[in-house]
Amino acid sequence: MDKAIQVFKFGGASVKDAEAVKNVAGILENYKDKSLVVIVSAMGKTTNALEKIVAAYFEKDIEKALSLLEETKIAHYQIMANLFDQNHEIFPMVNDIFVEIEWVLEDDVQDGYDYIYDQIVSVGELASSRILASYLNEKGLSTAWLDTRDVILTDDSFREARVNWEQTQNRAQKQVPALLKNNQFVLTQGFIASNNENQTTTLGREGSDFTAAIYSFCLDATSLSIWKDVPGILTADPRLFDNVTLINRLSYKEAIEMTYYGAKVIHPKTIKPLQNKNIPLFVKSFIDPEGEGTMIDADTNIIEYPPVIVVERNQCLLHISTKDFSFVAEWHLSYLFKLFNEHRIKINMMQNMAISFSVCVTNIPDRIKTLIDTLEKDFKVVKDDNLDLITVRNYREEMLKDLTQGKIVLFEERIRKTIQMVIKNVPSMKWK
Ligand code: ADP
Ligand code: ASP
Ligand code: MG
Repeated sequence: MDKAIQVFKFGGASVKDAEAVKNVAGILENYKDKSLVVIVSAMGKTTNALEKIVAAYFEKDIEKALSLLEETKIAHYQIMANLFDQNHEIFPMVNDIFVEIEWVLEDDVQDGYDYIYDQIVSVGELASSRILASYLNEKGLSTAWLDTRDVILTDDSFREARVNWEQTQNRAQKQVPALLKNNQFVLTQGFIASNNENQTTTLGREGSDFTAAIYSFCLDATSLSIWKDVPGILTADPRLFDNVTLINRLSYKEAIEMTYYGAKVIHPKTIKPLQNKNIPLFVKSFIDPEGEGTMIDADTNIIEYPPVIVVERNQCLLHISTKDFSFVAEWHLSYLFKLFNEHRIKINMMQNMAISFSVCVTNIPDRIKTLIDTLEKDFKVVKDDNLDLITVRNYREEMLKDLTQGKIVLFEERIRKTIQMVIKNVPSMKWK
């Protein structure tokens, strides 16, 4: 590879309407002398809308599925109408992409939910990437559109596919530098990939950040920049808290901890590939591109971080106890962990007592229900719903009183500089 490659990622909010697409083109204009790989997500909330189509199809409400599809198509057409003239080739191109969904909906349900989900939901990124690439070319920024399904190879775990790194790296190195020879930018989709049989897979919700890290790793990029609607990484989610401040520097370690605990600003899988190749990550604002943002790298000289608050909503507590008053022994725990793993439920916090074991997990109704059904064969299970899990890294004692004022703390744990609290969620509760 001859020229240093940088990777940029633009999320759904950055391309949510025509003005936003123009703004992205404006940012990219400043990098036209660089070799850039640009990863883009579906426009705005398209993925949520496509998920509803999948649900309607499986409820056998085809009329509803088709009308939801029509709404999504119209939203894209409105954006295109504000970016291109009416005879532009983008219109039939995007139409062909949406037709794929119609074909799925025409048939009776034959395949599994997760497989169909990936075939339908992936259309969001295919459409947005076509629109952005055509717009950049229109503006004189020569951009090659790349189908990321020809690059990122995964296994068959639809909706949460695992990457085959070796093959992906080979394919990325073969295709991307060649495209960059004749174009300023290579533009491709986040979130989606394909398996050995050329079926579309996805990497898990919010997975576009991870896609950007995959390309950065495979191409030995000099940096990854993720463009967000916030000035960078803040001390808490500004949607939930006032008085948040920007953190200019973070180590990979601090960033991976934050995202592990549920900070919604970057997908948790993003950090590892970057850390493994020592590639710096910049989180920058697409609203204020000149702003300093946050730089994440291996820096170990950062002496003190401010307290960082992470709120995971939609939690539940499962209290699992033995039926015969026997102690919860290690072999029970080993069996319980096996069950959690099999049901793909991540334990966010746990505590064991004499005859019971309590865990805080994200409330994913179908998975939790089948887990409880299995558990109840051997244990008594009590479930508490409507909880929030608050994690504060680098907490200071004096801030905890304010944070928990008027709230019921059910469960608390402190380890070194981190405190976690499970809090009863009153419907009207705001953290602000
Ligand atoms: P994208 O469009 O790239 O998918 P996301 O919506 O996934 O962007 O991520 C950006 C959002 O993350 C912000 O709008 C903000 O509300 C939220 N967020 C949560 N925690 C933080 C944090 N600590 N710092 C900044 N943003 C945060
Ligand atoms: N469009 C996908 C989602 O909304 C992937 C992403 O935006 O990161 O989950
Ligand atoms: Mg996101």
